[in-house]
Formats: sequence, C-alpha cells, structure tokens
Amino acid sequence: MLTTIIYRSHLHDHVPIKTLEDMVAKANSKNKNFDVTGILLFDGLHFFQLLEGPRDAVQGIYQRICQDARHHNLVELMHDFAPERRFGKVGMELFDLREHDKDTVLQAVLDKGTSRYQLTYKDRALQFLRTFVVARDKENYFEIPPANTWEFIADEADATELIDFADTLQDCRFAFQPIIDPFARRVTSYEALIRTPTGGSPQEYFSAFGGDAIYHADIQSKSLAFKLAYHLGIGDHRLSVNLLPMSLVAVPNAVDFLLEEIEASGLIPQQIIVEVTENEIISRSDEFAAEVRKLKAAGISLALDDFGAGFAGLSLLSKFQPDKIKIDREIIRDVHKSGPKQAIMHAIIKCCASLEIAVIAEGVEQAEEWMWLEAAGISQFQGFLFAYPLLNGFPSVAWPEIK
Ligand code: C2E
Ligand code: MN
Ligand code: MN
Repeated sequence: MLTTIIYRSHLHDHVPIKTLEDMVAKANSKNKNFDVTGILLFDGLHFFQLLEGPRDAVQGIYQRICQDARHHNLVELMHDFAPERRFGKVGMELFDLREHDKDTVLQAVLDKGTSRYQLTYKDRALQFLRTFVVARDKENYFEIPPANTWEFIADEADATELIDFADTLQDCRFAFQPIIDPFARRVTSYEALIRTPTGGSPQEYFSAFGGDAIYHADIQSKSLAFKLAYHLGIGDHRLSVNLLPMSLVAVPNAVDFLLEEIEASGLIPQQIIVEVTENEIISRSDEFAAEVRKLKAAGISLALDDFGAGFAGLSLLSKFQPDKIKIDREIIRDVHKSGPKQAIMHAIIKCCASLEIAVIAEGVEQAEEWMWLEAAGISQFQGFLFAYPLLNGFPSVAWPEIK
C-alpha cells in the first residue's frame, strides 16, 4: 500500500534560502533509499510538500520533517492511501514557483507522473498541488507565533471559594470554569459543572441514579448551582448550566422549577445559559423543542454543547438554531496542525456568522490552538490553558501577556 502525505509550512526568517538546495540534495538521497517520492514547492515563504511511498517510510520521514527547526506552522493537509505511485521516480525534487510560471510548474509535475492518465483524474493530491500553485487558499495560512511568545499569568487573589457553602437538600457540589475573551480580558460566563460531594466527576455523580431519577437529580441540582454562583459573586456575569435534553422533557414543570430557583437565588433568567449536547436532542425532538420555547420565552439562552462530537453536525442547525455553539475539544485539539480540522472550523465559523450564533472553543489546552482560533475569528474560549474548574469556587484566570 502506498501512503501519501501532503503538508504546508513556513520557512523561518533566519534560514538563508541558499541552503535549500543543499537540503533538497540530502532529502533526495534519503528518499531514494526509502523508495519515497518527494515533491517540494516553494513560493518564497511557504513550502508545500508531497511525500509518497511505503507507509512506514513516509511516516518516518514526515515525523523527522515535523521536528525540523528550519520551518514552522506546519499543517498536515492530506494523509491518504493509493494503489500505486502517482508521481514519478523516487527522490526529491524542488520547484521554486518564483522561477517558473504556474503552467510550467504544473506541467513539469504532471510530466513526472508514472502513468499520465492517472494524474488526469480528479485526484485529491494533484488538486492540492494545483491549489497551492495558483495560490487559491493562501488567505487561510495563518502565521502563528511560537507558543513561548505568550505568558499566561493568573492572579491567585482573584479566585473566590465557598468551601462550607451549605445546602442540606443537595447531595452534589459544583465546580465552576470561566469562559473568557482573552484579548478583552473579560470573563463572559462561568460554567457550572456538577460534582459528587468529594469532587467526583459528573459521570460518577449520575451513576448513582437509575431510570428517570437521573433527570430529576439533574434539574434539582441546578438550584445549588444558582445559589452558589450568586454567593460567589457572579454579579452581572452570565452563568451556564448543563442539562440533559431529556431532563427538560421527562421532569414535569422543569422550566417552571428552574425559573423559580433562579429568582429565589437572586439571579435573573437573562443571565442564564442552558447547555445541551447535540446528539441527545435528536430523540423526542418535538417535546424538547416545546420546552426550549418555554426557556426562550422566559429569557434564558441556549447553547449547543460538544458541537462536532456527535453525528448531527451542521445539518442540525437547519432545524434548530441555538444562541451559542461550543466546539468540542475533539476538533480543537491540534487545530493549528491539521488541515481537515481547520477546514471544519472555517465552515462552522462561516455558518454561525450567517446565523448570528456565537462560537465558543472549549477544551483549549495549547497556546497554538488558541492563537489559531483567534486568527480564524473566534473570541470566546474555555479550557485548561486559561483556568481549570474549581470545586465550590470561581478560579482565577491565566490571562495571556506578550513576553
Ligand atoms: P462539558 O459541558 O463539555 O464540560 C466541559 C468538560 O471539559 C468538563 O469536564 C471540564 O472539566 C472539561 N474541560 C475543560 N477544559 C478542558 C481542557 O482544556 N481539556 C480537557 N481535556 N478537558 C477540559 P467535566 O466537569 O468532567 O464534565 C463532563 C461533562 O459532564 C460536561 O461536559 C457535561 O456534558 C456533563 N455535565 C457537567 N455538569 C452537568 C450537569 O449539571 N448536568 C448534566 N446533565 N451534565 C453535566
Ligand atoms: Mn457544557
Ligand atoms: Mn462540552
């Protein structure tokens, strides 16, 4: 089986372009040893490279390329398999796009084709190459500075905790994690995450219940979330609470109960956001929609949680438009290195802009993920990079500062 990997990257400022020839000569002999074909395009700033050959050899070479300090902002565009070699002889060939016109380069690459007819089909690898040569996609090449450009500084004195906060009716606790706008240095909301009395996970907490009891526990627990948030000093920040969509459907008068508890806690419905996950909405969606109308009629906002992790995806938005969408960590992780994830993010951002839906990136752990997402147009973030959830409290935020 033949593996093809395509990536693009930026040449570092400090690397003299003259050294490229030497680099290519070395890669040429190495690739030959491993039976790998390499085509390298360079436009004066960006590299585009296609590697084709036996799977282990291509992956080994690619891993070493990822470590190479001469380039950065490396993004994997394609990782695919093919029955036979598309491009000619093994080795490495460099095409400097500044020295040839576009058609000449494309023709030269085509001429390398092992069997020419294969390359004339709508082959993804070849289409990627064409796109790079005609510079069709370059407005999406964000240049992300290195992670150590930033420091993340938390002022521990900003944290507030109420460890002894008593609510004898409740067998649960809550941890809070902020959702922030890092450049505005503003907390946009706090999310309440349910815990067992000893700080155990939501899964652990809910595993104690069977049948419909889980839905009642889910709704009732929110009373503590509201009170705790008020006493922690939420002020006019917003508060996000998680609910199983079925909790709204299965518990009679769930919305009325929530509204009473919000008022009794000293909060107002307009500051509350209810988060539900996408894959649970699909079943009993008509009944769920009726409960959502009641929430919205009372002034409560709705966020779609873990977007991209389920199976409904963008098609769900044709039936149901929340106020906010939280992009699942599965898509956020390593977004700065993945062409497919970047394409998905661009599509979500564009779609949500057309629908005036606010987009939040959740599970942000790396500075590079955050910087890429900011460049793509996202301004609200949640994740360990900025703050871990704090049991019985609002944690301090590690705000990014330029070093
Ligand atoms: P969620 O609503 O998507 O909450 C975010 C989860 O991701 C939290 O886990 C949080 O601790 C974790 N997280 C935050 N930042 C990062 C990060 O940078 N990296 C990683 N790896 N994880 C991060 P937690 O608290 O264990 O909650 C898990 C899920 O349990 C929640 O996911 C939510 O779906 C559910 N849940 C939490 N509280 C409630 C509740 O009161 N009712 C219901 N029905 N579900 C709840
Ligand atoms: Mn959530
Ligand atoms: Mn989530």
